[in-house]
Amino acid sequence: MINRKSRDEIKRMRHAGHIVALVHQKMKEVVEPGISTKELDNIAMHIIKENRAIPTFLGYAGFPASICTSINEQVVHGIPSEDVILKEGDIIAIDVGATYGGMVGDSAWSYRVGKVSDEVDKLMKVTEESLYAGIEQMRPGNVLDDISKAIEAVANREGYGIVRQYGGHGVGHEMHEDPFLFNYSVGDNTLIKPNVAIAIEPMLNLGGDDVVVSQEDGWTVSTKDGKPSAHFEHTVIATEDGPLITTQLMK
Ligand code: MG
Ligand code: MG
Repeated sequence: MINRKSRDEIKRMRHAGHIVALVHQKMKEVVEPGISTKELDNIAMHIIKENRAIPTFLGYAGFPASICTSINEQVVHGIPSEDVILKEGDIIAIDVGATYGGMVGDSAWSYRVGKVSDEVDKLMKVTEESLYAGIEQMRPGNVLDDISKAIEAVANREGYGIVRQYGGHGVGHEMHEDPFLFNYSVGDNTLIKPNVAIAIEPMLNLGGDDVVVSQEDGWTVSTKDGKPSAHFEHTVIATEDGPLITTQLMK
C-alpha cells in the first residue's frame, strides 16, 4: 500500500531531510584525496547525532555504518573502512539516511575526488540531470512510469547503462516503503497521489547495466564490467504545489 503523508509527517520528513542535507554539505567539504571512508562515516554519524536524529542505515539488515560509500565501479552499499583511502581521480557515491521524529530522509550524492576524467565527469553530470528529470515528474496525477521514462530517456541519450536490480522506493516511517520505482520504463501506471513520498535514485553506468554483489562482504554492489557508476538520490514528496524535495537545507 502506498501511504500518503500528513502535514505533520511531512514536517518531520523535511526536518530529517535537512539533517541529511547538512551531512552532504559537510561531505562536499571533506571529500579529498587522503581521507578514509571510515572518517567520512564518523563525521556523518556525528552530524546526525548532534541534530538529535538516528542514522537510519546503521543496523539496517545488519549494515555496519551510518553511510554507504561506493567508489568508482562500486554502485551502492559500499561499507566505510579505515583501509579505503580516497585518491585523486576517484568518484565516491555517499548515501545518507537520517530518522527524525520517526520519519526518514534518504539522499545519495556522487562526489569527485580532485580532478576526474572527462568521461567520468560527464557521467556525474548526466546522472544528476536524470535525477532532476525524474523529480520533475513527481506530481499528483502522473503515474510512476512518467518518472521512470524521464530517467531512462536521459540515460539512453548518452548510451549509459541503467542498473536494473535496484531503484527508487517509497519512504516515510520506514526507509523502504511501497512502491518500488524502476529507473527504466516498465509501464507501471500506478497513480501518484498527493503527499506520496518517494526516494528517486538513478544509478547510471559508463558501461553495461549488469551489477554483482560482493561475495566478500555481502553488501557492496559493483558494475560487472568494472566501469564507473554514479548515483544521485533525493527524497521527494508529490504535493499539490509540485515536487517537494525534503532532503535539502531548510531556509
Ligand atoms: Mg539512499
Ligand atoms: Mg534510497
